[in-house]
Amino acid sequence: MQHKKENSPFTIHRSPFAKKSFGQNFLVDQNYIDKIISALNPQKDETIIEIGAGRGALTEKLIESGAKIIAIELDRDLIPLLQTDFGRYENFTLIEQDALTVDFKNLLTTHRLPLNTKLVANLPYYISTAILQKLIKQRNCFGEMVLMLQREVVERITAEAGNRERGFLSVLVQAYLQTEKLFDVPPSAFRPAPKVWSSVIRLVTKNENEIKNEKLFREIISTGFAQKRKTILNNLKNVPPELREKFGDIETFLESCGINPQRRAETLTLDEWRQIYSLSI
Ligand code: SAM
Repeated sequence: MQHKKENSPFTIHRSPFAKKSFGQNFLVDQNYIDKIISALNPQKDETIIEIGAGRGALTEKLIESGAKIIAIELDRDLIPLLQTDFGRYENFTLIEQDALTVDFKNLLTTHRLPLNTKLVANLPYYISTAILQKLIKQRNCFGEMVLMLQREVVERITAEAGNRERGFLSVLVQAYLQTEKLFDVPPSAFRPAPKVWSSVIRLVTKNENEIKNEKLFREIISTGFAQKRKTILNNLKNVPPELREKFGDIETFLESCGINPQRRAETLTLDEWRQIYSLSI
């Protein structure tokens, strides 16, 4: 397969300028491209969804692996470029769409593909939280995801109880996915270079999950973290009325969960959040 060289006059001439509004920081460091691909370890008999194919830095290697690749790209100016480079490969499908609006279950069913695909993305920063929340909702479509995110976001996602970075997203992600931070990526690995470092993380869908009512769980943790400086007691006083009824006296409720009401949300372990949830249903 032809290799596109970032610095070749050919590439510069034909590539549209990187668009800030689409969060376009293209990976150009071959070392990191290879590291992401080997973390994903694509196999011939697998299906891999890539969000935000960009100029194809990862896509090219994915296609080479022989796996079935479904790439999603929002920027219509990049579509002809991706089609020209990869359209001739049988194991490549390109979808021009906003990944936030993709129903992954539907997509896989339409292509008669099993629901345990891998997902890879060098995610645009501006949608990373929204995409993560969407991927959690549709987690049963994915066995494993390898994502590049802003380093701060990865720190937040992986923060354990007691860590100041721990928040709504940490608890939500950890409730449904196993997280493993893989490595950091410096701004110099991209063109244009972003202002911040990135990190690559592996997320694996947990098979067994007793938190079936995701909406309720989200409500509990988002209220619990609403004001980080407040105690869990004071935050949970603001739960919606239906939950308030179930909780009864919040202080007594927290004590019955074995949680000191004066603690802050960031100190609660996943088991403690689970306990609050299970006594609320
Ligand atoms: N994968 C390429 C790479 O590693 O060089 C590009 C990564 S770049 C950080 C993010 C890509 O996601 C861009 O190509 C951008 O156009 C695309 N993108 C931005 N928002 C998107 C969305 N909502 N849905 C799908 N793709 C999106």
